[in-house]
Order: sequence, then C-alpha cells, then structure tokens
Amino acid sequence: MKLDSALFAIGAALSLTTAAFAAGGSTGHAFYGDPPDERHAWCVHDQNRPQPKVVAPLPVSELEAKAKAPADAVILFDGTEASLAKWCSDKNPNEPTKWIVRDGAMECVPKSGYVRTKEEFGDCQLHVEWAAPSKVEGDGQGRGNSGIFLLGVETQVLDSYKNLTYADGMACSMYGVNPPLANALRPPGEFQYIDITFHRPIYKDDKCVQPGWVTVYCNGILVQDRTQIEGPTGHRARTKVGPLPEKGPLKLQDHGNPVRFRNIWYRPLPSTAAKGGTRGPLPAKAVAAERKKIAAKVRKDAAAKPEGSVEQMLRFAESLVYEKDDATFATMEKLASQYAASLKQLPADKAGAKKDEVLQVDSAFKYLAKWNFVPENFGPKVEVANFIKAQGWDKKPKKK
Ligand code: MG
Repeated sequence: MKLDSALFAIGAALSLTTAAFAAGGSTGHAFYGDPPDERHAWCVHDQNRPQPKVVAPLPVSELEAKAKAPADAVILFDGTEASLAKWCSDKNPNEPTKWIVRDGAMECVPKSGYVRTKEEFGDCQLHVEWAAPSKVEGDGQGRGNSGIFLLGVETQVLDSYKNLTYADGMACSMYGVNPPLANALRPPGEFQYIDITFHRPIYKDDKCVQPGWVTVYCNGILVQDRTQIEGPTGHRARTKVGPLPEKGPLKLQDHGNPVRFRNIWYRPLPSTAAKGGTRGPLPAKAVAAERKKIAAKVRKDAAAKPEGSVEQMLRFAESLVYEKDDATFATMEKLASQYAASLKQLPADKAGAKKDEVLQVDSAFKYLAKWNFVPENFGPKVEVANFIKAQGWDKKPKKK
C-alpha cells in the first residue's frame, strides 16, 4: 500500500514518463486547453500544473454517520426505484432517464445522456456518493468519468485512484478551474463520500458583487476550500465570467462509463446579504429596516406584559437597543421611576425576596448606560444602585 502510494506520487510528478504510464495515464499534453492569461498562470488542463498529494481517506465507519440525510434535507436519491422518478433525461426532460437502479445505486448507462433532477435549486449543501466501476478500463479521463453539475459548475467525478490526468480534471477538481487540494480517493468499486457547499456568484449591473464559491470534501478530506467560481466550467475552455441562473437541476454526467451514485441529498442554503437575505453583513439601509422590525416586535411584546410590571419595563428598555424611539423611552422611564419608588416603599423584611430581580434590573440599567441608551446619571439607575448598596448586596462575598 505504502509502496503503491509512493509510486503514484513519483508518477504524478513526472509527466509522460514510464513511471507516469505505470501509474496509469498521463498529466495531459501541451497545446490543448486555453492558454494562460493575466489572471491565470496555467493553461486549462495544463500538464505542468502540480498534481495533488495522495492523502488517505477517512474510514467509511466515520463517514457513514455524517452521510445520513439531516431532517431538513431534500432527498434526491435514496437507492430506490421510486426515487429515480425524481430524475429525468437531461436532453429530453419530459422523458424518464435510461440510467438504472442496481444494488441501491443509480448507474449511468453509457450513451444514454446526462441525468438531471426534476427539482431545481441554487445555493446548497449537497451530499453525493459515487463509485467508479470496479472493473478498471481506460486511462486518464476515460476511466470512471462522470460529473456533478450544479448550475453548470462541474465537480469532477473520475477514477483518479492511481490514474493520472491533468490536475484540474481529476476527481473533485472544479473541472478546468482548480485541482483538488489532495487526492483522497478510495479504489474503484468503492464509494466515495462527497460533500459540497455551493454558492453562486452574484452579479449586479454586470458587476460581480459577491464571488461564488465551492467547498468540497472528498471522503472527509477538504479538497476545495471556497474555490472561487465566476461562471460555468468547461472543457478546454476558460470559464466565461458571468452570472449563473438562480436555480437549476442537479445534473450527473454520462461520460461513457457506468459510474454509480447513491445517497444524494441537499439542503438549500439561506440567501446571503448581497442576495437580499440576512446572512453576512447587510447594507446600512437593510440593517436599519431589520432593526426597526425587531424593535416593533419587542415593543408589541412589552405592551402585552402585565401593566406596570418590571418585565414590561425591561422589555420596553430592550426595544430601545434596536431602535431609538422617544415615546418608548418616556414610557420606559416612567415605569423605571415607578419601580425605583416601589423599592423605597418596600418593608425591610421583604427586600431579600426581591434580590435577584433588583440585581437583574441593575445590570440592565448598567448595560443601557454603557451603550448610551440611557444617561449614566439616569435617575432610576442611580436609585436602584443606592438601594443595592443600602442592602449590602454590592459587597463581594468573603472567600472561605
Ligand atoms: Mg466529467
């Protein structure tokens, strides 16, 4: 095993040598993909691009538990014939796919064409398991080739186990864009556990306002670390920079090899701020609108609390953290003054029972003063602090 890996590593380093051929395939050839440009040092499918290191995959026992679809996942294929009905022919979406279900896996029938989901989605967390044919046939791109396509972006499926090809075309490459960080593949015939998070790039008026990115784990090993995507991937051609559709089906490639797939599910990912959602930093206007909404909700809740209660006072105060509002401040101040006055009326033997509540109010006032929601010398704040002092609650308990 160790010797094999070493041989493979040597083969990976030397293109078009006996060692490389011994490992299966070559790293490609010159004058093939689009040439380097001012933003890309390598040709597309460049034979000179370094090969990723071979890294041992995590054991299946560790991956299996994590591969289970979470409760909020959408199941796209669960190994049953019934779930194949969620897929169709990519070329003729009105027709069922000719791919078949065998032993709990969906298998590509060569020359039948790509398969696609009827379901359409965009940004997502996607889990896919695939296995290259156990009978090893072909070399390089011809061995166990398929592909996982999200909105036209291919995460390459290839039997890259001891099978050389250009680095940006091996298993788990962003095809033609970026090689994986490592080659963590299992041997052909065994299932590979692939986890992808996908965010499409966002364009506004022809300008990219947020790059897209893809993160991929192969058998538990991080192989694409927020790799930037600027458009769909392509064969031999540089990505055409531009927006991707908001939604689309998941497609699996027919590249002429009976590659098998199982346990496919996804979770839609919430929209980022740039897409009008609430993830990540929001533009100032959206922040103000969101804060206004939260404040209104908290005020409504405050109004429903028992009239004049300490809970009501604190809840009104809380709303001021989200939005400055003079009327709410006045209400809160009135309630706070009443509260402070009620403490003065409290018979000495009843004070102890109020300790937790008073300390809570004190800490709320301190917070509000610290962040300038009330002045430092806010009357009720001073009175509550004095009450605490009079009770001796401000003294730290002696250490035993
Ligand atoms: Mg492919």
